[in-house]
Amino acid sequence: MGHSSPTIDAIHVRAVRVPMSEPHRTASGAVAESPLVLTDVHTDAGVSGHSIVFTYTPAALKPTAELIRNLEPLIKGDALAPLEVAQKLAARFRLLGTQGLVGMALAAIDMALWDALARAHRLPLVRLLGGTEKPLRPYGAIGYDGVPGSAKTAEAWARRGFTGIKAKIGYPTVQEDVAVVRAMRQAAGDGMAIMVDYNQSLSPVEALERLRALDGEGLAWVEEPTLAHDYAGHARVAGEAATPIQCGENWWGVLDMQHAIDAQASDYVMPDVMKIGGVTGWLKAAALASAKGILMSNHLWPEVSARLLCCTPTAHWLEYADWWNPILAEPLLIENGLAVVNDTVGSGVAWNEDAVARFAA
Ligand SMILES: [Mg+2]
Repeated sequence: MGHSSPTIDAIHVRAVRVPMSEPHRTASGAVAESPLVLTDVHTDAGVSGHSIVFTYTPAALKPTAELIRNLEPLIKGDALAPLEVAQKLAARFRLLGTQGLVGMALAAIDMALWDALARAHRLPLVRLLGGTEKPLRPYGAIGYDGVPGSAKTAEAWARRGFTGIKAKIGYPTVQEDVAVVRAMRQAAGDGMAIMVDYNQSLSPVEALERLRALDGEGLAWVEEPTLAHDYAGHARVAGEAATPIQCGENWWGVLDMQHAIDAQASDYVMPDVMKIGGVTGWLKAAALASAKGILMSNHLWPEVSARLLCCTPTAHWLEYADWWNPILAEPLLIENGLAVVNDTVGSGVAWNEDAVARFAA
């Protein structure tokens, strides 16, 4: 790449519905497929960048794809400069707001632009950001699958060499929650870090009650015990519980994260690269976390997040998920229980075109 920066030429989007090998159950409902919008940003230099956004429900798939497509005239002809574009689009959408579908569309563009920029420089994203690739500790997911189901999956992760697992809990009684934790520990062994996730299903008072019972169980963290945006409620729980509280996947942008940190709502943080504002948002989030020495993990997006965690001073765990592997040319590699970030050019997102065609929505 010479001194003249490539400019943005076109945006192409495709919607896919990728079935999961097994439905993932949570205390707030089951997820059986991933509705995804795949974005390609093309530049006049012939380089393209790619990104994935996850719409959770198929009802939001088409509107999100359309919204991303509608951004093309706003940035066509602009320099391939993600920070500049992010600032411009944030200003453009200030009146409407940059959460929800708008936030997802902006993140789709941002992640694709960073990917394109890395490719234009023929660099892995980690190197473009000034870091080096390093192995990360991934943890595996366990659904809301009861005592035998959770134990079985815990054992399977342990067999793959994983040193962390996270289960969905929030059963009708706390005794059942405790039984699931103990069954996982028995199945996976004492060396396994065990996290649990309530997916916002409790009131703060219920959360306090349940944490009292869980505090003796040696959990690595308890995630989103109450509503994600009830920072005061979370702060109350975090203040009284001995177990660390983990939040972040539902923070829209770094200001949400700053508010949560100000309220002392969470001991750890785990931003979602889409909701926090793409790679640009993640970098700001990593700076906030590092200023206070708060350990930072990710939510989903294992390929991009692994690269970003390599550039995050307080990097903690990598949330691993293989849900989107079918549509990726090169899914994140796990070896001996560690996530291996290779030195492939870009952010790790490139398509398996046959699968993309097969799952087209
Ligand atoms: Mg969660």
